Amino acid sequence: MTLINDLPQLAALDAADRAHLIHPVSPWRLHEQRGPTVLASGRGAWLTDANGNEVLDAFAGLWCVNIGYGQESVVQAAAGQMRRLPYATGYFHFSSEPAIRLAEKLAQLAPGSLNHVYLTLGGSEAVDTAVRFITQYFNATGRPTKKHCIALERGYHGSSSTGAGLTALPAFHRGFDLPLPTQHYIPSPNPYRASNPDDAQGIIDASVAALRNKVAELGADNVAAFFCEPVQGSGGVIVPPRGWLKAMRDAARELDILFVVDEVITGFGRTGPMFACEAEEVVPDIMTLAKGLTAGYVPMGATVVSDQVYAGIADGAPDGAPVGHGATYSAHPVSAAVALEVLRLYEEGGILANGQRGAAPFAAGLDALRNHPLVGDSRHRGLLGALELVSDKDSKRGFDPSLRLAERIAATAYRNGIVFRAFADNILGFAPALTYTEAEFELMFARVKKTLDDVLAAPEVRTALAS
Ligand code: PLP
Repeated sequence: MTLINDLPQLAALDAADRAHLIHPVSPWRLHEQRGPTVLASGRGAWLTDANGNEVLDAFAGLWCVNIGYGQESVVQAAAGQMRRLPYATGYFHFSSEPAIRLAEKLAQLAPGSLNHVYLTLGGSEAVDTAVRFITQYFNATGRPTKKHCIALERGYHGSSSTGAGLTALPAFHRGFDLPLPTQHYIPSPNPYRASNPDDAQGIIDASVAALRNKVAELGADNVAAFFCEPVQGSGGVIVPPRGWLKAMRDAARELDILFVVDEVITGFGRTGPMFACEAEEVVPDIMTLAKGLTAGYVPMGATVVSDQVYAGIADGAPDGAPVGHGATYSAHPVSAAVALEVLRLYEEGGILANGQRGAAPFAAGLDALRNHPLVGDSRHRGLLGALELVSDKDSKRGFDPSLRLAERIAATAYRNGIVFRAFADNILGFAPALTYTEAEFELMFARVKKTLDDVLAAPEVRTALAS
C-alpha cells in the first residue's frame, strides 16, 4: 500500500485516526482538532511521511531505533522466525531457542551477577516487573515491611499503574491517583539548575545526602529500593556529573536498599558503552531494558536481576509453588530473534563503535549552539543530548507557556525537514541513530540552527527574550 499522492485515502486515514486512535500521552481533544502526521516509510536516518515529505530523524523514533530504519537482516530474522515458529509460550516450562539465546546473551552483556532475565513487551512492563519482583523478594526473604520506593524528580519509569508513580512527571499523575503512598522522590542531579554547575562533587554529595535523608525519614526497614535512570531522558535529558551513579549505588548498598537502574533509554550504546552502568563500573541489583534491545522493530523489554534477588525469590517461594508473574507474550520468539540480530549489528556490525565515533561531532554541534540567543544550556552523553531554551541566560528563566514555544519549535522543525523532541518546558531532546554519518550530523545541526533562527524571527519570541 502506498499512501503518497493518494489524497482521498489519506483524508480517510486522517479522519479515522481522529475518530478512533487514542495516542499515547496526548491531549485527546486537541489531537482530534490537529489530526495525525502519518509516517509511511523509513530508510537509514530518514523518514518519509504520507505526503511525501522526507525528514531527518534526530530522535531515533522515540529514542529506540538505534540501528536506523530498513535494516534488512533484522527483517529477515523476524520473517525467518515467523515462518519457523511465530509463537511459543514460556508457561508450563516451554521455551524457544531465540528466547534462551537472548537471555544467555543479555546475562553475558550485563554487569556482575545480573544473570537472570525476564523478557517483557517493553519498558513499562520491565519496570512493573521490577516492582513486583522487589515486593516478592522482600516478602520471600522475611522483610515484608520494605515496601517504599524512592525515585528522582523528573524521572521517567513508564506508564504502568505502579511505574507511572515512580515516574515523576505531572501528566502521569494528574487524575490517575498517583503517586502511591509508597512512592517518593528526591531532587534530580541537574548541573544546569544547581547553585554551582561546576561543582560536580557538590551535586553528587547533595544527591547522596537526599537519598540518606529520605531513607531516614521513611525508616530503613520500610524502604525497598531506589530507582534511577543513568541519564534522565523524558525529564529533559538531565546528565548527572560522572561519578554520580557510582556514589548512589554505594549509598544504596550501605542503606540496605536495592539499586534499580532503568537503562530503557541509556542501554545499547545510547550513551557510548553497551550499558551506561559500564562507564562507572556500577553493578545494580536490577536493570530494566527495552527500546534499543530490538531497536523498535518489534516490542520487547527485559528485567535483569542479580543472583541474590533471583535466589531470594526462588528459594522463598513454597516448594513447587509458581511465582505468579507472566504474560502470554513474555519472551516472544519473534521479538527475541529480532533482538539477537540487533545485538549482532551493534557488535559485529560495528554500529556500537559508529555511535561512539559520533559522540564528538554530536557534542560539538550541540555545544556550538550555546551561542544562540535562545539557548541556555547544552548537555550530552554519547548520542543522548539536549538544548535547554531560556528567555534570560543569566537568570535561566524559561518562557511563558502562552507562547507555546515547544509546539512552534516542533512544527518549524518539521517544516525544515527534521524531527527531534520538543519538551513542554522548552528542552529540546536529541537521540540520533547510532548509524549517523558525519554528513547527517552536519545536516542535523544546520536544520536545528535554522529552526531556532526561524522561531526567533517571530516578533513575540523576540520580545520574550531578555534584552
Ligand atoms: N523507562 C524509561 C527510562 C523510559 O525512557 C521509558 C520510555 O520512554 C520507559 C521506562 C517505558 O518504556 P515503554 O515506553 O517501552 O513502556
